[in-house]
Amino acid sequence: MPICWICGAVADSAEHMVKASDVRAIFPSLNHRSPAFRHSQGRTNEPVRGANALILKFRPSLCQHCNNARSQPWDRAWELLERKLREAKPPLKAGDRIPLGRIFSSNRTESMVHVHQFFTKLMGCIAIEHNIPLPIASFAQHLKAGAAEPTLRIAFVHIPPGSSKIKIHVGNVHAKTDKVTGVIATAVWHYVVGSFCVEVSYARAGFAQLRFVRRLGWHPDDVSRTWKLD
Ligand SMILES: [Zn+2]
Repeated sequence: MPICWICGAVADSAEHMVKASDVRAIFPSLNHRSPAFRHSQGRTNEPVRGANALILKFRPSLCQHCNNARSQPWDRAWELLERKLREAKPPLKAGDRIPLGRIFSSNRTESMVHVHQFFTKLMGCIAIEHNIPLPIASFAQHLKAGAAEPTLRIAFVHIPPGSSKIKIHVGNVHAKTDKVTGVIATAVWHYVVGSFCVEVSYARAGFAQLRFVRRLGWHPDDVSRTWKLD
């Protein structure tokens, strides 16, 4: 039996590669008669007939508790942030400050740790799914402690309307290995929903971050409280 990479219990739950609320936001009328289409390495045009389709899930690598009760605050924080970014009037663009205070009001600090934890959970599931040797024991330890994993930073990138036909995208992990020790020194991964891309980057202590965006990315421990769109 596979085990939950967060707590070590039996893994009987499969995490969504793309959060169901994100799929519904972008494809509100998805059903058997009007599917969306998934393209992946080696496969194209696989129909997706609902936000909970198996094709949008990882193989089981979490237990029910970690994938539901434990991670619910993380999922909810991202769901709220994604909706507020998408519905912002006027629409947000590169260089704009993300109004975190308005979005999360008094829970801003805690909520942003939760957003960071949401992407830490996804990065861990991706690492398991594709056998990428990232330090998931550390990811798990910080998730269980309610803390932000120190090696991960997240950046938000605005995608100009009409510049891409891809509505939702879960990227491959790009990684660089340290030649001396053979371990992954830095890795980056992308999650796209509509007009926004989240770049999640990992760097071992002492290594520069591999990144595709201008800004360094954001971590809850940063002194600066502002968060801008790249
Ligand atoms: Zn668990």
